[in-house]
Amino acid sequence: MKIRGRFAPTPSGPLHLGNAWSALLAWLQVRQAGGEMLLRIEDIDGPRSRQAYIESIPEDLRWLGLDWDEGPDLGGPYSPYRQSERLARYEELLHVLKAKGLVYPCYCSRAELAAIASAPHGLAAEGPAYPGICRTLSEPERATRAERKTPSWRFVMPAEPVAFEDLAMGPQSFPAGYGGDFIVKRADGIYAYQLAVVADDADMAVTHVLRGSDLLDSTPRQLALFDALGLPAPRYAHVPLLYGPDGQRLAKRHGSASIGAMRQSGISPETIVGWLGYLAGCLPKPEPAKPRDLLPYFRLDAVPPGPIRLEPAMLDRLGIR
Ligand code: GLU
Repeated sequence: MKIRGRFAPTPSGPLHLGNAWSALLAWLQVRQAGGEMLLRIEDIDGPRSRQAYIESIPEDLRWLGLDWDEGPDLGGPYSPYRQSERLARYEELLHVLKAKGLVYPCYCSRAELAAIASAPHGLAAEGPAYPGICRTLSEPERATRAERKTPSWRFVMPAEPVAFEDLAMGPQSFPAGYGGDFIVKRADGIYAYQLAVVADDADMAVTHVLRGSDLLDSTPRQLALFDALGLPAPRYAHVPLLYGPDGQRLAKRHGSASIGAMRQSGISPETIVGWLGYLAGCLPKPEPAKPRDLLPYFRLDAVPPGPIRLEPAMLDRLGIR
């Protein structure tokens, strides 16, 4: 059976060096195994997505020398490959979860949640875990609250610990209920990333997900959703994030770390890929390379395990300030 991987960019910003890093590694993992790659545009959050990035991200990926077999531009057996065109499928899965009693309406506002002190920690990106206030509301209480507020929908995190083998980071385990009950559909009607990504990876027969380690703590949620929906889960590999010499995450920098800006300033794709290949342990020196030149040398276990701090020489060479 062929392995299937994906690029899954969110078009809320340009492709930057950090995205290019995980895209290159995902491509190497799949192409080395003779597998199939797909491009999926994760524009589920309409207001944050921009048409300009929907166009420039695939262009930048191609410019770097990456390719894919299915995607919004190429079509494929699992079309459409844009989340904004798959809303009916997410609604259908939300119904399945409702029918199983695995989601509940939540009327808590952001301000109410912010006021709750001493809650256990949720995901790194989110702050405190949701303490389950609306999980146990009675039907009359729900009816009263529904008069004032449209609810979000929260998934009940199972009461068992989650363990899985990460292909890059090794054995992982998370305690029962890790991160708290999480939102699958927001009060403004937008389906949450967690639900959309699970639906898509299952429907598009993705077998291998390689992505940045900022999403490691989302994995227990996604595995719980696959399980609840009776859908097959992929294997995961989480790779370290790139940081500047100042310890700041590269993704947080502005324009100069974007692939588009490097391209405009005359840097070659081979220079970028060569540096990334060097960081991934494929090359002894950061010599110019095309993605396919790295194929014989790529090994997930040679990728450094921890956060990668870029040397000033690399930032200078790539014009990142
Ligand atoms: N769309 C997400 C991002 O750009 C990636 C989601 C995933 O790989 O699961 O950060």
